[in-house]
Amino acid sequence: MSGRTIVRGGTLVDPAAGINGRRDLALEGGRVAAVEARMEAGPGDEEIDASGLLVTPGLIDLHVHVFAGVSHYGVEVDPTCLAKGVTTAVDAGTAGAFIFPGFRKYVIEVCETRLKAFLNISCVGLVTGAETNPSIGELEEIRYAHVPSALAVVEKNRDVILGIKIRLSANLARNGENELPALKLAREAADAAGLPVMIHTPKSSLPLPRILAEMRRGDILTHCFHGHESGILNREWKVLPEVRQAIERGVHLDVGHGKGSFTFRVAETAMRQGVLPGTISSDLHRYNVNGPVFDLATTVSKFLLLGMPLEQAIERVTSAPAAVMGMAGLVGTLRVGAAADLALFELQEGRFEFVDTFNETRVGERRMVPKMTIRNGTVRALDGQLVPRSVQKSVG
Ligand SMILES: [Zn+2]
Repeated sequence: MSGRTIVRGGTLVDPAAGINGRRDLALEGGRVAAVEARMEAGPGDEEIDASGLLVTPGLIDLHVHVFAGVSHYGVEVDPTCLAKGVTTAVDAGTAGAFIFPGFRKYVIEVCETRLKAFLNISCVGLVTGAETNPSIGELEEIRYAHVPSALAVVEKNRDVILGIKIRLSANLARNGENELPALKLAREAADAAGLPVMIHTPKSSLPLPRILAEMRRGDILTHCFHGHESGILNREWKVLPEVRQAIERGVHLDVGHGKGSFTFRVAETAMRQGVLPGTISSDLHRYNVNGPVFDLATTVSKFLLLGMPLEQAIERVTSAPAAVMGMAGLVGTLRVGAAADLALFELQEGRFEFVDTFNETRVGERRMVPKMTIRNGTVRALDGQLVPRSVQKSVG
């Protein structure tokens, strides 16, 4: 019998528990067993020295694309999520009904990152897209938005499917012609399934208020700070009243940085007007993993640079997305009894350049750098790299 793992000396930031200070944690049986100001390791306990580091609940990324090898967007999930401090991720509609069984079998069930998904209303999902040659949007053919197929897959995968995803961009939907019909079909599927919709709006031919009119409590507006048509600001750089009304009725704003969907000026302008994102997510995929996104911690660092306090930023990658997933208390916090999924970061101070998706560079003074990921009580990554299972050993 192995003993407990004691994570000692770090600064615990656990917004759900109201903690930002030095704490030691004991992990046992895949759960958090104790959180105390100071703890001594007993005989048989493994000890991890977290001094000088931030200790957070394993981060949760509400928007990634990890169907590698099937979608042109897909990246491998464990090297891009688990290795970088993300212990729970949500694939945002890479798979539609026709390919979801393969996504479940070959990705969800074999990766170590805790992975859930939104199902694309287009049954082909993101096998094609604007970036492929030929460039063919998943809603070029409205018959792909097939409600019965989506519902059948939802019923078989309720344990992992959180909702329905739709991308509303004119160039993905027959010059916009199919956008409204497909949006209504996504709404119909989500309602029939009793699940929310997650909607992408950059470059939509539909005005954002028309899209928001279809959105209800629990639905997610991702890419909320994009700088294209159908964004949250009007021409005078004021947040649209329809956006405030949507937030009031419980529509959730998610960052979904991506390769084209995060603009410093939009984020800063909206936040100054009191509109904050509910969750910070990366929209990590093949075209941004080598910049400007890199990883979720870098996206969090961009919000620190914009003036968001550390606790508020951490909340938006831990307990806030956990609540969206219906998993509050199990993940996104390190309260006693929660999953032993945690991440250790170095909060570096200096001058660091960050780039948005309009190529604007800003200099921040802090940067969160992943140092260790613990999943289910076991050290699974060091310095941003996975620890191979075969050479895994205790880290003291
Ligand atoms: Zn995306």
